[in-house]
Amino acid sequence: MESKVYFIGAGPGDPELITLKGHKAIGGADVIIYAGSLVNPQVLANCGKEAVIYNSAEMDLPEIIEVMKNACAQGLSVARVHTGDPSIYGSIREQIEELDKLQIGYEVIPGVSSFTAAASVLCKEFTVPEISQTVICTRFEGRTPVPELEQIELLASHKTSMAIFLSVHMMEKLVEKLTKHYSGSTPIAVVEKATWTDQRVVRGMLNDIVLKVKEAGIRKTAMILVGDFLGTEYNNSKLYDAGFTHEYRQGKTPCGE
Ligand code: SAH
Repeated sequence: MESKVYFIGAGPGDPELITLKGHKAIGGADVIIYAGSLVNPQVLANCGKEAVIYNSAEMDLPEIIEVMKNACAQGLSVARVHTGDPSIYGSIREQIEELDKLQIGYEVIPGVSSFTAAASVLCKEFTVPEISQTVICTRFEGRTPVPELEQIELLASHKTSMAIFLSVHMMEKLVEKLTKHYSGSTPIAVVEKATWTDQRVVRGMLNDIVLKVKEAGIRKTAMILVGDFLGTEYNNSKLYDAGFTHEYRQGKTPCGE
């Protein structure tokens, strides 16, 4: 494999939910640095016998860069394995900036993000015709701030489908902000460890979810999905509507021609 750093999305947990490309890159890598707190170690099962494995949960940024630098100086390849998709809360930018300074090459291999994985667990579509055509991926402001215009209350005013990361430990405050715009009967689901064998799902409405999540004892690694897309009201997609023609399918006339 080429000597460079491969940023790989490991997917949400189920080891079969990594891309073929990511799987192959792990199989061929000389050095592997994986985010041990969230990545299922089973996605590393096909790594080479000689591969050296590091857990980034125990390393700071300079240490991670040092490992990458030393490996590439020896002509080795590095698999940097992130949970879900690396482009969402993956902290790859700070690593890429350091690699640019050192003129080390890299490639990003996408993955299945936990927000789409959570939707799959619930068998739901975020974009339901006439209910919501927009998905907001965000997190609630905790210790690290979010930009002023992205305060959860402002985002909630659009009443779109929402996927909220990194926030399940702040359910009470989060729900209080959401209910400034969404009604108390808006459906909400919390999916803990989506696609892992011990995944758990808590479903409810904004006005009863706090208690349910507290009772279940969910404190981390959970996706919060909220919006009417989780409800039962539904308008069929025009794409499959017999009266709606498009490039690939002409409408049927009443006599079936
Ligand atoms: N890059 C990742 C997100 C990393 S931030 C992705 O695309 O999914 C970590 C947060 O992601 C967690 O706090 C949680 O909100 C969410 N998360 C990651 N894996 C998850 C899983 N299997 N199930 C539910 N939420 C998950």
